[in-house]
Amino acid sequence: MEATLLSLSSVQEPGLREGFYVASPSRGRNPIRCVGAGHSETGSRAGLASQRAAIAAKQLRQCHWCAHRCGVDRLAGQRGPCHAGPEGRIFSAQIEVGDESDLCPVFAVAFSGCDLRCDFCNTGRQSWDASAGSVPEGIEREALLSRIGRAWESGAVRSLMILGGEPTIHLASALELVAALPDGLPVVWKTNAHGTPESNALLDGVFDGWVADLKFGNDDCARRIARVENYCSTVHHNLRWAAGQTRLIVRHLLLPGHLECCWRPAAAWMAEHLPQVEVSLRTGFWPGWFSSRHPELKAPGRLSEAQEATRIGIEAGLRLIQ
Ligand code: SF4
Repeated sequence: MEATLLSLSSVQEPGLREGFYVASPSRGRNPIRCVGAGHSETGSRAGLASQRAAIAAKQLRQCHWCAHRCGVDRLAGQRGPCHAGPEGRIFSAQIEVGDESDLCPVFAVAFSGCDLRCDFCNTGRQSWDASAGSVPEGIEREALLSRIGRAWESGAVRSLMILGGEPTIHLASALELVAALPDGLPVVWKTNAHGTPESNALLDGVFDGWVADLKFGNDDCARRIARVENYCSTVHHNLRWAAGQTRLIVRHLLLPGHLECCWRPAAAWMAEHLPQVEVSLRTGFWPGWFSSRHPELKAPGRLSEAQEATRIGIEAGLRLIQ
């Protein structure tokens, strides 16, 4: 039975769910989907996503989907810090191989715009500009769904990933898209984890897995580089919540010069609070977008720091994956 609006507003207690991977009868071993996680407990994913999309569409009247909680009426033309309108725009939809290895290849659908302003953003303008791309409607929407269907049925992809920018700011559109996907296709939610109990409630049980960022290990770096307040408490809460709902991969992009201030405390926090989640330490930093605003981010990531970061992760007992 679908959750009520009241229950959608409640926050579930964080907790870790033991997961293991299932064999898909039609497609061999499926490394993505966890037994006991996701929509399998609630019936059709399409039905659940469709119901949630309808609820989300009404919440556009007073948006509280990200931790800015600006409450603007997006249907009336008001815009919050994310600058997003009522309809999600997509700037990229293609097969990619740069994500965690057991998710790949992924069919990545990227929504425009973001609620954060990370100067090192690797997609740059499209992630900062909610007006980039287009709203897939009519023939364009059918063509997108057809491409996804062919990629899945032909075995060209192992999963579909919804990302951005930040897809949380486009919850209604993202859920509408999920409602139209083949039920067997594992769907991964890639997020900056800067959401709220309201957005978490809409996402709960819809996805087969989350890939969520833990970008910073302290609030000062987050404020300076991504212009966001209370980063750690917000993201820590959401990661703990997500770990109790689905397969969670926590992703950390190692920033040059941030080994001690960001990675070490992030690793220590995960070791204490999320010892069972998989941790994807990304060491391929490239100084794109506005990285040059920060002296330490003007050069690519260093091998010595990557090696030290890996050592820190291993010593902390993290489940490092690639
Ligand atoms: S998603 Fe955008 S409109 Fe909604 S609370 Fe966040 S900044 Fe405001």
